[in-house]
Amino acid sequence: MNDKPDIKPATAVAHLGRDPHKHIGAVNTPVYRATTILFDTVADLEAAERGQYPGLTYGLHGLPTVVDLQSAYAKLEGAHAALAVPSGLAAITLALIGTARAGDHVLVTDSAYGPTRRFCENQLRRLGVDVSYYDPCSVAGVEREMKANTRVVFAESPGSLSFEVQDIPAIAEVAHRHGALLLMDNTWATPLGFPAFARGVDVSIHAGTKYLGGHSDVLVGLIGCSEATFPRLHRLWTDMGVAASSDDCFLALRGLRTLSVRLQRHTESALAIAVWLKQQPEVDEVIFPALPGARGHALWQRDFTGACGLFGVVLKPAAKFRVDAMLDGMRLFRMGFSWGGFESLILPVHPERSRTVTRWNAAAPYLRLHVGLEDCGDLIADLSEGLVRLRG
Ligand SMILES: *Cc1c(COP(=O)(O)O)cnc(C)c1O
Repeated sequence: MNDKPDIKPATAVAHLGRDPHKHIGAVNTPVYRATTILFDTVADLEAAERGQYPGLTYGLHGLPTVVDLQSAYAKLEGAHAALAVPSGLAAITLALIGTARAGDHVLVTDSAYGPTRRFCENQLRRLGVDVSYYDPCSVAGVEREMKANTRVVFAESPGSLSFEVQDIPAIAEVAHRHGALLLMDNTWATPLGFPAFARGVDVSIHAGTKYLGGHSDVLVGLIGCSEATFPRLHRLWTDMGVAASSDDCFLALRGLRTLSVRLQRHTESALAIAVWLKQQPEVDEVIFPALPGARGHALWQRDFTGACGLFGVVLKPAAKFRVDAMLDGMRLFRMGFSWGGFESLILPVHPERSRTVTRWNAAAPYLRLHVGLEDCGDLIADLSEGLVRLRG
């Protein structure tokens, strides 16, 4: 099943990473809670010390629930192998520490997730790594910013908050020509919506906390690795002791089974709501790469195989207390960080606070919407009432 190249994503998410024969016939890999693994003989123990024992040696590394999530994820994304860690942010930080060393330069997209940038400023610099930022929409800019010691280019497409779609194949070409690796945060599209490795990415990062978990109740991160990058990232993952727990991997695997249908529904409803919003007089622009006519749509259409329910809405200039009244009164779109769960969310966001290379017009109110799995008509009614409060 897993080796057939022609299976479709909906089939893959149903079947990857599980083998009932290994688990009393159970459909799903159960949660393995184990620390100590017992050896029957001294010979087995000594083989383990030499790294030649074929079984598991300790619960921190290689419990079946964790391994099954990692292998399912890797196959889905076209990675050589994957590593599961306790959060999306841990996936980002481990990938960066594992690929850059003191004296190297790391080139990061200006549209990166805020905590990615904070990690670069607060920790990578402290470790002697030089960091600078590039315009996510300019391949020429990436070329210009490459230095002799640039070892890592970090991408995120679409970008956090501002949703710039990057020309990943072209950026990969520039990075590789200069001897650098391309790391990409692929959280928005998931492996179903963006085949990172087929587009030239060397290390992919996914906050499974978002759509993979899908139910707002699990933090988990995945690092997809190419064959060349896997050994050193696996080494670091082992040395740092940062494996995800079996419980969390179980929930991620459970989420995986419905990822395809959920994303379809998120995308359909988000598109319907985006089209509706565009027609409202209070709305200046809808920034949703999957929406025909939106910025980034052409590149999205060329490189992506899917979308999700997360996008941005630029409002026409309005007094803050009016926008606050709109948000305070929402019934279904609730305010909160994170996204990717079954429920709809709305949040005032400020890309200008975490940009140094590109400009963002901070004068216009800007909202990030996560369209959940609720009835689309109910969601539009909630937004419609919100726009009434905005008008005052
Ligand atoms: C949420 C998010 C992360 C971090 O995931 P956590 O599991 O919350 O640490 C990383 N990248 C992007 C793009 C995200 O939206």
